[in-house]
Parts: sequence; structure tokens; C-alpha cells
Amino acid sequence: MFCSNCGKEVKGNFCGACGTKVVGNTVQEENSTIKVEEGTSRNVVLTVTRTKKILGFAISFSVYVDGVQIGSLGNGKSLTYNVSEGNHKVVFKCVEKDVIQEINVLSTTNSVEVVCHAKMGLVAAVANVDEVKYN
Ligand SMILES: [Zn+2]
Repeated sequence: MFCSNCGKEVKGNFCGACGTKVVGNTVQEENSTIKVEEGTSRNVVLTVTRTKKILGFAISFSVYVDGVQIGSLGNGKSLTYNVSEGNHKVVFKCVEKDVIQEINVLSTTNSVEVVCHAKMGLVAAVANVDEVKYN
């Protein structure tokens, strides 16, 4: 069994680490955790699309959402990722610099698409965000 307060493994009725009283069994704890997640999160599909261009076509951009790498975005490709409601930071890691695009997912948002293309920077192609579409 694990403490509902601090997450440490508990032997007996009280957590040895923080003193919280532990009730119920492991199965009930798992069920209640799942219910909380269902009630608070709604996933919206984020699509990051790179328009096909001849310029800088060989260079892929690594795309991160809230610090998590969601994939490598090649010329004319798309990546998809599930995001929750709220603000998220989409980062295109380019050779020269990071291009950051903030998105804001509302309760009425069904999907988000960030459209970019490669433009020439000083030494290499850089992602340029053309538009953010909220559906
Ligand atoms: Zn504890």
C-alpha cells in the first residue's frame, strides 16, 4: 500500500514518512485515482504541420510541447500530440535558435493546428510559424 499524501510505501495504518492515516485497500485507491483523472482532463489533439518547401528541406526540426519532445518534423510532415486545456508552449528546436509558439486551449477548443514552414536563417533553416488554427 502507498501513502495517499506523500506516495511512500506504507506498512500498517499510518505512513512512517509523513504520518498520514492510510485507509482502504490498494484496488480502491487505484479506482479513485482514475476517476479524478477522468473528471479533470480533456485531451485536445494538437497537430504541428510543416508546409513543404524547397528551401531548407533537408533539415528536420525537433518539436517540444511543454518540454516533452513529440518528434522530428521533416519537410511536408505533421506531428500530433494530445494536450489538455490551458496554455502550452510549442518549441521548434532549430540549429540557430529555438522558435517558441504559445497556444491556449479553451474548454470550447476541439483541436489545434500549428502551421509552420522553414525559412532561411543566418546559418541554417529556421522554423517560421505561419498560423495557429483553433477548431
Ligand atoms: Zn506519507
